[in-house]
Amino acid sequence: MTIAVDFDGVIHAYSKGWHDGSIYDGPVPGAIDALRLLMDTDAVFIHTTRDAGQVATWLLNHGLPVRVGGDEGRVFWNERGSLLVTNRKLPARVYIDDRALHFQNWDQALLELGRRGI
Ligand SMILES: [Mg+2]
Repeated sequence: MTIAVDFDGVIHAYSKGWHDGSIYDGPVPGAIDALRLLMDTDAVFIHTTRDAGQVATWLLNHGLPVRVGGDEGRVFWNERGSLLVTNRKLPARVYIDDRALHFQNWDQALLELGRRGI
């Protein structure tokens, strides 16, 4: 299957938030090993709002095989063994994100956001 992984807060520790826009922190504990494990069996891509080249460089420096560039016009990712970095939301079976709300229906989503249900 294809798995999308958020970068900030999931791979990059991001302890100071956006800060100055640089990638200043180390990895979240276990992140690099977890990505390697998932890449053995599944197609994994990094979904980020950052510049993809900046994120790819950081991942390469942490020993991960990264696919850089060439994702213009790409509509899916199904390659094992290398990470695609993209700021496009490609289809995935699951999105791993530290700020996600797991949508089931609008009543539940609004309640989790502290609003009254519909
Ligand atoms: Mg995040």
